[in-house]
Amino acid sequence: MIYLDYNATTPLDKDVLRVMQPYLTKEYANPASIYRFSQRALKAIEDARFSVARLIHAGHEEVIFTSGGTESNNLAIKGIALNNKNKGRHIITSKIEHDSVLNPCKFLESTGFEVTYINVDNYGVVDLEELEKSIKKETILVSIMHANNETGVIQPIEEAAKICKTKGVLFHTDAIQSAGKIPLDVNTGVDILSMAGHKFCGPKGIGALYVRKGIELCPLIHGGHQELDRRAGTENVAGIVGLSKAFSLANSSFKKTQKHITELRILLERGLKEIDGIKVNGHSRKTLYNTLNVSIENVEAASLLVKLDLEGICISAGSACKSGSSEPSHVLLAMGLSRELSKAAVRFSLGKYNTEKDIHKTIRILKKAVSGLRKISSSG
Ligand SMILES: *Cc1c(COP(=O)(O)O)cnc(C)c1O
Repeated sequence: MIYLDYNATTPLDKDVLRVMQPYLTKEYANPASIYRFSQRALKAIEDARFSVARLIHAGHEEVIFTSGGTESNNLAIKGIALNNKNKGRHIITSKIEHDSVLNPCKFLESTGFEVTYINVDNYGVVDLEELEKSIKKETILVSIMHANNETGVIQPIEEAAKICKTKGVLFHTDAIQSAGKIPLDVNTGVDILSMAGHKFCGPKGIGALYVRKGIELCPLIHGGHQELDRRAGTENVAGIVGLSKAFSLANSSFKKTQKHITELRILLERGLKEIDGIKVNGHSRKTLYNTLNVSIENVEAASLLVKLDLEGICISAGSACKSGSSEPSHVLLAMGLSRELSKAAVRFSLGKYNTEKDIHKTIRILKKAVSGLRKISSSG
């Protein structure tokens, strides 16, 4: 099997599994109990919190753990909305966000909030001028993702944060794709930031949320006093330890991984460009080094995926959450692609365990599959 879908999820690093294992077996105490046995679990959580905080240049009291990226985004958006609804009921986000941002916004609209969805240009970069113009007295939150999951395009979040700061509006960023791939620093003006363990070779079902000191948000899950009273429930100790380990492994090897993956991506792009009618979707420079989104003219991505799957190659059409449905990607449509080219788009997202051999084999099989599909469509 060749796995080229790292933006959907990643394999668990063996070193991460090793540090998680004790907390799934012998160190099973509830961190909230008072005996020394439980203090070890509590210490593991607090060590993880310090480590994650240090790597994004935050204070440890500014990081809480959640059940994943979706919960982090929900807590950021609904938590701020619920807490500030008397100040104003207007939120701004973009048209290219992940569903875990768009759908909480849609839910808030159904309860009386107003949401503005700002546009992107043909390269998939959000329009900062439109952002600035959209902010009004009632605006309480702006949420713009750091790197897009479908195209890999990196958004100008520092500038967006600066605009928000000048206007006195809170700024949240979904950094779930960028975390572990490029360095993060919350001192660039971000107020709230979401991460998820399984996008950087950590476990699934665990996420983190940075919330700048002094910012109040309403919890979504009420119960005990865990996670600084912001997220109740007995902690996922093994998950927390795993997220922290995976994040520090990723942060200690940025340069090496980036070099390796960039080389593979260039190789892949060069190979794909030998096919007629290939168009790369996204920005040529401001893009995550592991992501390559291309439209292949006169090829239905859904059919191509099935063909590649039979050969053991895993890639996505649009985002993973959209596969199975034949709706074209909202991200590519927002970038101005036709419905036809959006439906012809496939996403390759590479990771640290990919090899040159994987890429050569993928190019070879893909060329064959594309010409096969084109023959069928032209004869039909
Ligand atoms: C994967 C992803 C999410 C959702 O994270 P989960 O941990 O799967 O809930 C949110 N936003 C982006 C950009 C993602 O890539």
